[in-house]
Amino acid sequence: MKDLLPPEAPKWRFIEATAREAFAAFGFSEIRVPILERTELFARSIGEETDIVSKEMYTFEDRSGDSLTMRPEATAGVARAFLEHKLHATPGPHKLFTIGPMFRHERPQKGRLRQFHQLDCEVLDDAGPQSDAELLVLADHLLKVLGVAKVQIVLNSLGCPECRPSFKQALLSYFQDKQGRLCDDCNKRLANNPLRVLDCKQEDCKEIAAGAPLISASWCPDCSEHFDQVKRLLGLAGVSYALDPKLVRGLDYYTRTAFELKTGELGAQDAVGGGGRYDGLIQALGGPATPAIGFALGIERLALLIEDRPEWQSGPALFIAALGEEPRAWAFGAACALRKKGLWVEMSASDVSLKAQMRRANKMNAAQVLIVGGEELKAGAAPLKDMASGDQTDLPLDEIVTRLAAAGA
Ligand code: AMP
Repeated sequence: MKDLLPPEAPKWRFIEATAREAFAAFGFSEIRVPILERTELFARSIGEETDIVSKEMYTFEDRSGDSLTMRPEATAGVARAFLEHKLHATPGPHKLFTIGPMFRHERPQKGRLRQFHQLDCEVLDDAGPQSDAELLVLADHLLKVLGVAKVQIVLNSLGCPECRPSFKQALLSYFQDKQGRLCDDCNKRLANNPLRVLDCKQEDCKEIAAGAPLISASWCPDCSEHFDQVKRLLGLAGVSYALDPKLVRGLDYYTRTAFELKTGELGAQDAVGGGGRYDGLIQALGGPATPAIGFALGIERLALLIEDRPEWQSGPALFIAALGEEPRAWAFGAACALRKKGLWVEMSASDVSLKAQMRRANKMNAAQVLIVGGEELKAGAAPLKDMASGDQTDLPLDEIVTRLAAAGA
């Protein structure tokens, strides 16, 4: 779990503000759900057998003896809120976004933390391929406006409850005589969810999975048609993608469209985001049949891909270097008046030499410095120095607020 220190904060603000703008343009409204949920929500929605639920959740008993979990992802909480507040009673699609921390007890490494942050979008109550395409266009657009190049959308369809059983069967037959070479986890996966063997990162398992049957051979006509439409709409929107018939996602609840946003720039943790359709989730949680689709992007991984911009490290608009008691009193009043107009103004916290004050103004990267001593106060004007050009002009002190606030300093 990492502290976010002031120098990094502007990049995070940029990511969040840019995301909010993009989400608004695509018609998404904000929802904020608690970080703590009942453990059973995640067990039921993500799946008991997934790595997240079986190995990675921060779960504890609270003082009332209830088992609670710090959310490992956002979809389950959003789905719970959707049901609890009967949002399904009003016509869909419901387009929701949320931004915040997630918690997984994973082995920490570059790009993988135990508290990380996601930008999460969900479209609930719409089964059509347009929602799938819209979400992908949104993700693609967001990456572009963030300046994150070299991310590729990788796309697959995981079929539906109609056609997936035959694919599972085909996988089981394929893996049957290869069980001895699969890792222990994959042997468990074979029993519970054989699709996830395709997702294993162990070399031996990867090698065996390379020869496995493809899910596309099992798609029912409806799944094929849905996937064709998604691809057609992405083509219309000018969004490029790669198809990966072996792409499966870690969570059990996905149906049909599944995708990842991958980059070659992050080493082993190559996914910036991912998502997919989860048509059965709301019903599995006890609600009415409600098709839905969503994605999550990891803010830490986005931050690794975004260069710092000079404007994020800009300093105060004005530093008032005041010398002596009376000038300091005047400077304090002027600084407060300008700050109330929205300008970032600094002065030193104690009466130190002009040299020390100039050093501090320089270090803070102040745009301008006003030097005020007893003489200047008496004369009613003081030199204002532009730190970039070195130019100096005399500023009438009684006009400081009107002149500097109006100019944005
Ligand atoms: P997931 O919910 O596992 O599909 O993750 C979606 C995105 O969240 C990933 O593509 C990452 O960008 C980010 N993410 C997931 N787990 C972590 C983690 N442990 N540390 C940092 N980012 C993560």
